[in-house]
Amino acid sequence: MSEAKRYEVVIIGSGPAGLTAAIYAARANLKPLVVEGKQPGGQLTITTEVENFPGFPQGILGPKLMEDMREQAKRFGAECRFGAVTSVDLSQRPFKVAIDQKELVMAETLIIATGASAKLLGLESERKYMGYGVSACATCDGFFYKGREVVVVGGGDSAMEEANFLTKYATRVTILHRREEFRASKIMLERAKANPKIRFMTNVVVEEILGDGKVVTGARIRNVKTGEISEIACDGVFIAIGHSPNSALFEGQLELDEKGYVVTKKGTTETSVPGVFACGDIQDSVYRQAVTAAGTGCMAAIDAERFLERQKALAKAEAQVAT
Ligand code: NAP
Repeated sequence: MSEAKRYEVVIIGSGPAGLTAAIYAARANLKPLVVEGKQPGGQLTITTEVENFPGFPQGILGPKLMEDMREQAKRFGAECRFGAVTSVDLSQRPFKVAIDQKELVMAETLIIATGASAKLLGLESERKYMGYGVSACATCDGFFYKGREVVVVGGGDSAMEEANFLTKYATRVTILHRREEFRASKIMLERAKANPKIRFMTNVVVEEILGDGKVVTGARIRNVKTGEISEIACDGVFIAIGHSPNSALFEGQLELDEKGYVVTKKGTTETSVPGVFACGDIQDSVYRQAVTAAGTGCMAAIDAERFLERQKALAKAEAQVAT
């Protein structure tokens, strides 16, 4: 490990939460370090058009929005570094943060913005064919399904969005949902229903992803109401069943809820360890929007700044008592 550099603020993650925290912390002259993580820019870099981020009446491409946020943070002095945090030690301040197992930095305050990752069904066949017909990202892999048939698993907004996107390439997209009712918002569901290339199958679960040993050829599905088992032929299976928080690094060190989300004190971004703040999807299982992530990123930077000010005032008072 090289000699540890000390930062007033280290931000883990570079989605809308992390980069907004970086903009605010940098403007407060705290010279934050942003460790960008395995997916620089976060989940928005694998979406296409973002239609609901305020200020962009015509929409904006996800990767472009994140690139602009990064530039904005750098303009005020944020240091953005590629690499992933591989371990943290939150037992005392300054906190120890290891990057790519080879570099150690010390953090007076830590802002966790590690977000969430796509959930999978957990089938052995899903693992086997991942990248060979199974995908959790239509915008990344949709292009490979030109003129082919695919299925999308899920009944939320992600499933509707992915299905709509896939119709740009695929001849037919079948949405497989485990219930009769959909979790998706009305507008997204109606958009999918109005798309002639999309068909729906409800009350079905995927029991197995079928393949020829190399690529996906179909899926075995079970109707949960009738118990009937059938096979559906397809070239691709897109999993869109939600996300889980990227909090493994903090297990045993921070309070997490039963689903693994970092617990924050109501109305703040404070975690169970003073000096550690959490923002964005890692602490939000309810709203999970780019704009709410950015909002809590702003809160985390302000909370960190105030924490540092309090620490400095405390140290000054202690020094005066000592003299
Ligand atoms: P979600 O709302 O949690 O929906 C997940 C869907 O997958 C549900 O329909 C769920 O079924 C199903 N599911 C979960 N586990 C499953 C399993 N093991 N097997 C089969 N099906 C399973 O997740 P999401 O669609 O990713 O959306 C997350 C958030 O992002 C939401 O707040 C959403 O509004 C937002 N979002 C917004 C947009 C947009 O506005 N453009 C786009 C994408 C996402 P049940 O319904 O039976 O639980």
